[in-house]
This record gives sequence, structure tokens and C-alpha cells, in this order.
Amino acid sequence: MKHLNLLILASLAIVFSLNAQEKKYPQRAPMTPEMSEYWQPQPPVITPGKAHETAVPAPSDAIVLFDGENLSQWENSKGNAAEWTVHDGVFTVKRGTGDIQTKQKFNDFQLHIEWRSPQEVRGESQGRGNSGVFLQGVYEIQILDNYQNETYVNGQAGSVYKQTPPLANAMRKPGEWNTYDIIYTAPTFKKDGTYRTPPRVTLLQNGILLQNNTIILGTTPYIGFPEVIEHGEGPIRLQDHGDAVSFRNIWIREL
Ligand code: MG
Repeated sequence: MKHLNLLILASLAIVFSLNAQEKKYPQRAPMTPEMSEYWQPQPPVITPGKAHETAVPAPSDAIVLFDGENLSQWENSKGNAAEWTVHDGVFTVKRGTGDIQTKQKFNDFQLHIEWRSPQEVRGESQGRGNSGVFLQGVYEIQILDNYQNETYVNGQAGSVYKQTPPLANAMRKPGEWNTYDIIYTAPTFKKDGTYRTPPRVTLLQNGILLQNNTIILGTTPYIGFPEVIEHGEGPIRLQDHGDAVSFRNIWIREL
């Protein structure tokens, strides 16, 4: 009887150890940034109409996120005070202090934001006037100085970063103000965490259509493919990419 018990135990041990050995699959090749970048065809260059001398004021039902005074509506990613520099009615990325985001969170919205890349041109491709607007803190609409500065088209100003290039290059010159008007529809999710309805974005830069109800496929990483992650309402987040991009006149209408 004792021998039989030992035999059963030994058999069980063998079965468990076989189960513990996971089946081996080939490793997925590690991705490089270049694998998700393409350079052709370049969108047409369209010269926008003349900029307004002063910022266009917010409509009556808008939530003003920056009116030239202070960053009281904003925080850093740790929930502490936003450290970017406020000056002359605008604010500018303070290199190395990290992204900033609105304290308030949003679902569907219409966002107006004005931005300016540094007048002094430095760097090329992605290294010139790079920042970004993250919708619900997740999906990056690229900000970049693309004035006579080629880059991969799905990383150009107004792209859904590493996904969808803009329909046009509508840049003003470095040092001049650009407007983004962004209409965003938040995703809904199934129980398994995948999209029931994907996020969508429409974007005008300086009055020129760049994204026309574009489906956002998922996250917008520098390396790798878009991933679908479940999330709820989220902030407007602005990117510290190390370049002194300035912002002014930011307002949002909840839809
Ligand atoms: Mg960026």
C-alpha cells in the first residue's frame, strides 16, 4: 500500500512538472522606431490665411483652460503644480519638468488651443518644435514645427502620432501662432476591454482640415503598434519633448 501511494505521488509530480513547462513559441522580433514611420506621400503644403492679430476669445459656454494669467487649471503628472513658464500672456514648456495636464477630465469635447514653435530654428525632423496634445491623456495629436521641415508623415504636425498623417501641411512660420481646433469623440468599451466604438478625431489647423472624423486605432507609442487600453474620462495633456513650444488661449466645450 505504501509503495502504491509513493507511485501515485511520483506520477502526480511528473504530470505537474510537465504542465509547468510552458510551450515555447518563437520570440517576436523587437521593434525599432523606424518600423512604424513612413515618409511618402508627403501631404500638400497649404498656406493658411493671415493669422488674427489677437487671440479669438472663448465662446460663452466654454471652460477656459488658460486665459494668459496662470496655470491654476493645470498640474504635472504627479498631481503637483505645473512648472511650465507663464510670461507675456502665454506659457512655454519648461524643459525637463515633464508633461502637464488639466486637473479636470473630459469625455467628448471641442478644444481650441494655440501654439507657437520657437522663432529660432534648431534641429530637424522630430527635433524641431516638438510637443503634443494628448486627448483624454492617451492619444497624441502631434505638435511639431513642420515649416520647411520634412519628417515621417505619420509624425507630422496634426498627425495622430504614428498612425494617421494629416491631410495637409498647414504650418505657419516658426515664431507665428498656429491654432488647433479639435473635435473629439471618446471611445466606448465592451466588457472584454476592446473598443465597442473607437475614439474619433476631427482637427483643423489654422482653419484647414487635417483630420476628418479619423478613427483612432489605439495608443500612440514611439515604438510599437497602437494598443487598445480601457480608460474613462481623461485630461488634456501637453507634452514636454524638450523644445520651448508656447501655448495661449486654450478653451474647451464639453459635448
Ligand atoms: Mg510630440
